[in-house]
Amino acid sequence: MAWSLDDTIVAIGTPLGEGGIGIIRVSGPEALGVLQRLFAPHRPPPEGQAWVPWRLTYGHVREPESGALVDEALAVWMPAPKTYTRQDVAEIHCHGGLLPLRRVLDLCLQAGARLAEPGEFTLRAFLNGRIDLAQAEAVVDVVRAKSQQGLEMAVGQLAGRLSERVGAVRADLLTVLAHLEAAIDFPLDEIPPCDRVALLTRVGQSLDQLLAGAEQGAVYRQGIRTAIVGRPNVGKSSLLNALLQSDRAIVTPIPGTTRDTLEETVVVGGVPLILVDTAGITEARDPIERLGVERSRAAVAASDLALLVLDGSQPPTAEDEAIAGLLSERTALVVINKCDLPPAPGAERLLAGRPCVRVSALTGQGLPELEQAVLEAILAGRMQADEAPLVSRPRHVDALRRAREQVAAALLAAEQGWPDDCVATDIRGAVAALGEITGETVSDDLVARIFADFCLGK
Ligand code: GDP
Repeated sequence: MAWSLDDTIVAIGTPLGEGGIGIIRVSGPEALGVLQRLFAPHRPPPEGQAWVPWRLTYGHVREPESGALVDEALAVWMPAPKTYTRQDVAEIHCHGGLLPLRRVLDLCLQAGARLAEPGEFTLRAFLNGRIDLAQAEAVVDVVRAKSQQGLEMAVGQLAGRLSERVGAVRADLLTVLAHLEAAIDFPLDEIPPCDRVALLTRVGQSLDQLLAGAEQGAVYRQGIRTAIVGRPNVGKSSLLNALLQSDRAIVTPIPGTTRDTLEETVVVGGVPLILVDTAGITEARDPIERLGVERSRAAVAASDLALLVLDGSQPPTAEDEAIAGLLSERTALVVINKCDLPPAPGAERLLAGRPCVRVSALTGQGLPELEQAVLEAILAGRMQADEAPLVSRPRHVDALRRAREQVAAALLAAEQGWPDDCVATDIRGAVAALGEITGETVSDDLVARIFADFCLGK
């Protein structure tokens, strides 16, 4: 696939809707030309200068032909190479309404720019070598972060923390490889010693360490699809509200990935819980609609984690039991609610070995313990206490696992004194797998697929 870098691209960089400001971004050799055609600075640049770079300039967007006023705006021109794309970049900050943004975008297109593809600005940053592939992917994760932890991880990846670690491992492998290749090519020469086994062991440990945090990383990045189930009146909506109101929770409407809906997310102990079938909790007030068991069945099937809510002030009913029966083989937590009321015995019967927390949605009692229990249920001892996770994407996990397998094979071959050729082949495989993460060894198709996941204007 041939990507063009020579044309000038434009897109609206801010979300469409109403906002104080909206930003149009232009990147490419003609960025300044486009800007000059439609933007009239209030104060002309100093004699002999086309534009003062890196300075926000106040002025007006006007129709080039008629001079008709389009909007009052600020504009900035950033000459290459110290820009997002490493190309000339211009930005126009106009009013953040649909119409002003569309008008300015149209004028940029008329001035010779082309509409950018989704992710094309970041693709240019990648193709021009300003960021590697893992950093480009982190851009999406920063934008879509669902929790503080997810954001910190993505910002770290964007800053190159994952790439550095992968690069260090790759460098160790290349050292061993260079040594092996020298020994293969010049078998009679004195080759300086290199402890292959020690180096490969160290590489294996580094890869294990990266992989150990991957599950936690994936949970922080993607969140956990969670169903809050239980029969009517046990306090599901009250619990949801209590979670939403606790100061550690943030609620974000996130476009559903599988359905065309908005999903509610509540962050519990740093983990974004994407609530499945919230409508079943908050809207179905009509008793006929509240088909406890059926509704729960569907919600549980669509979730990774179920919170079974019981009313601790009443003995469990047949309906409680039926809903609990849906949870076998599932990651689930039992939440015994209404612990502010005198307890009724019997709830323990439904635990079936599952972790259980007593809470009161009314008073907030037990909610911190619930957060902790959710974390433990999801990660079941796979939390890394010493280091924040660096790996979070399935693509990276897959490449790291393949590299790990090849390193194990190389180590075995080295320990058993197999021919250098065999060891070298495995190491080359591992180097290639690691290169997929940062983008050194990756197909154009894959790059295209990764950037297709971006939003427009990024
Ligand atoms: P849902 O049908 O499972 O969503 O249950 P609701 O959240 O609508 O709660 C049913 C009733 O139980 C309401 O009257 C709530 O005020 C009450 N309730 C919910 N949680 C608690 C609690 O922790 N303690 C007490 N005392 N009452 C609660």
